[in-house]
Amino acid sequence: MTALEPLAPLHLRVVWLPYDTVCDLYVDGDRITFDPVPGARTVATSGYALPGLVDAHCHIGIRRGAAPIESLDEARALARTDRDAGVLAIRDAGSPYPYPELVGEDGLPRLIRAGHHIAASKRYLRGIGLECEPHEAAAALARQAKLGDGWVKLVGDWIDRGRGDLAPSFEPEVLTAAIHAAQAEGARVAVHTFSEEAVECVVAAGADSVEHGTGLSADLLDTMAAKGISLVPTMINIETFDDIAAGADVKFPRYADHMRRLKRGFPEVVRAAWEAGVQVRLGTDAGGGIDHGLAAEEMRLLHESAGIPLAEVVAAASWKAREWLGLAPDLGDVVVYDRDPRTDLTAAREPSLIVLRGRIVER
Ligand SMILES: [Zn+2]
Repeated sequence: MTALEPLAPLHLRVVWLPYDTVCDLYVDGDRITFDPVPGARTVATSGYALPGLVDAHCHIGIRRGAAPIESLDEARALARTDRDAGVLAIRDAGSPYPYPELVGEDGLPRLIRAGHHIAASKRYLRGIGLECEPHEAAAALARQAKLGDGWVKLVGDWIDRGRGDLAPSFEPEVLTAAIHAAQAEGARVAVHTFSEEAVECVVAAGADSVEHGTGLSADLLDTMAAKGISLVPTMINIETFDDIAAGADVKFPRYADHMRRLKRGFPEVVRAAWEAGVQVRLGTDAGGGIDHGLAAEEMRLLHESAGIPLAEVVAAASWKAREWLGLAPDLGDVVVYDRDPRTDLTAAREPSLIVLRGRIVER
């Protein structure tokens, strides 16, 4: 990226999507306003604009190949890849490398960190989670509540090699106690689950978001809707389950079959979640095995595979998610598209202008 341009007021005449009308929008410092700002430079005279996309499950602390990053510059580079795809806010869903210094940095998306993933001993990607014993889990998650930006990440299940299948990371009472301990510290809790068994416990415990959630059933979706538990399906990630299964066929055939079955049924689960009134969020799970910058591809899957109407996908991926994460509605973030992303999926791939924290992003 080139050096930041000086902060100067901007004017955009665009269709502003939350209100769906052509309007004169002004960006004045890190704020948007509809009141004219003297001296504002006109930078867009047409197009459709929204306050940026949100990737609610995105790891800028994990490099390709599932190893922790080793410098802040690596995190910056990954975050900029997402930013250039129109993502102006990221909930990181866990990072083995802390980067509090980057929160609020000019040129980077708004970062909402979830601390270090808490996982069971030897039951997660090696070197990524903070692994602990059952009696340590609640205190460990509560500790992370103080290190993030209002979220923590718990790995609720993983392959149990002894069992040869997915299994909850901890007994139900341990998972429940950990979720409640972090919430008592004021954090919201995002829980990774693939299996039916773990997600049942996590929903009953009242976690704040289910990540992936391939094991969800209709009953649980109703409970999630009633309790306001979000689903971040990361459909891009679930697409990789066949490859994971193929790698496990010889040693863990039961697990491999289970993963294939979960993948097959997943579009229907996401569709049912939306129909049940669960808030479905956009998350790419970038980092490790998934490239950054794929927010539009996740939008495509939510629409084409799960069948959620595109206009609802756009709302969920943008202003609704920003509100959920506590971002003020008048922050100086704007992404402009030439075409309406609510009717043209390809538009979301090609932002024509990005304004972040009041400045035009040079790409
Ligand atoms: Zn993840």
